[in-house]
Amino acid sequence: MSTVKEKLIENLIEEDKISQRKITIVGTGAVGMACAICILLKDLADELALVDVAVDKLKGETMDLQHGSLFFNTSKITSGKDYSVSANSKLVIVTAGARQQEGESRLALVQRNVNIMKSIIPAIVQHSPDCKMLIVSNPELFLLVDILTYVVWKLSGLPATRVFGSGCNLDSARFRYLIGEKLGVHPTSCHGWIIGEHGDSSVPLWSGVNVAGVALKTLDPKLGTDADKDQWKNIHKQVVESAYEIIKLKGYTSWAIGLSVTDLVGSVLKNLRRVHPVSTMVKGLYGIKEEIFLSIPCVLGQNGVSDIVKVNLNSDEEALFKKSADTLWNVQKELVF
Ligand code: NAD
Repeated sequence: MSTVKEKLIENLIEEDKISQRKITIVGTGAVGMACAICILLKDLADELALVDVAVDKLKGETMDLQHGSLFFNTSKITSGKDYSVSANSKLVIVTAGARQQEGESRLALVQRNVNIMKSIIPAIVQHSPDCKMLIVSNPELFLLVDILTYVVWKLSGLPATRVFGSGCNLDSARFRYLIGEKLGVHPTSCHGWIIGEHGDSSVPLWSGVNVAGVALKTLDPKLGTDADKDQWKNIHKQVVESAYEIIKLKGYTSWAIGLSVTDLVGSVLKNLRRVHPVSTMVKGLYGIKEEIFLSIPCVLGQNGVSDIVKVNLNSDEEALFKKSADTLWNVQKELVF
């Protein structure tokens, strides 16, 4: 007896089971799910796989997304605790991580997160040896995304060009939003870059801030300094403090990081070769001798970070950049993995 499906549909060819634009997200917390919904709404993937150790939450989030399938164009949403579900991913986004416990030192926290990465990264590479990896996990609000990107690079055995951290992409988006608010102009027309460490010691490049090619620093050479009457410096202070403020108000940050990660995903999956401030290996640049990951403007495309843009830093900016690198190295050199 034929089933209704057999009566309705006659199969002509076997479908190719391998997805061409598969993305895996590891960690289905607030950040992972914000990334997921933004990626789905922007039609960037033909398959989205989710992985988490919290199996009930994972199943619930997966079902909830699958039930929205009518409203987006990603044909397959899969999930599992086992990394086989991530097989053949083009891009893997890592948002899993452990938060700081009371009294825990920074080194102990980083080490605990290194151990989590050890349970994740080799399994990802085994199932997707050709993938790119985008690291978002940042359990202490600053420093860690850059250190964890280094750790993932080491654990993965992949070329450094294929492992990058979300780094200052979010900081720069916040910077441009706040510049836009001050000028009454949309952030897409306000250009400005924050580089270095994601967080407290990030470096705003005031000389590059411009609207329509007009550098604001040419209108006021004191822009961004203590002597500046308009106190533009406060904008960078707000950028640094905003994550703390949002976490105090709503418990976590999710939407802006989800949107900014999705912008990076678009550049990789569509091979757009747009320039983004992401965390990449900076050994050999600006006098840095160690294997450190910090944000600089990078060309992102289908091969990951294919090029970097050589920004001329003034002596103050270079000193700040170097200071971030030294702080990172002091933690990094103690790690065991
Ligand atoms: P969350 O605690 O809500 O979610 C983390 C998820 O990771 C949980 O679902 C947990 O079960 C999962 N997880 C833990 N260990 C795992 C493992 N070994 N394998 C698989 N999954 C595992 O946290 P969140 O609010 O979603 O934030 C996620 C991370 O993103 C945090 O580290 C946070 O600090 C970071 N973050 C980064 C930025 C940035 O700019 N880079 C911005 C915001 C948040």
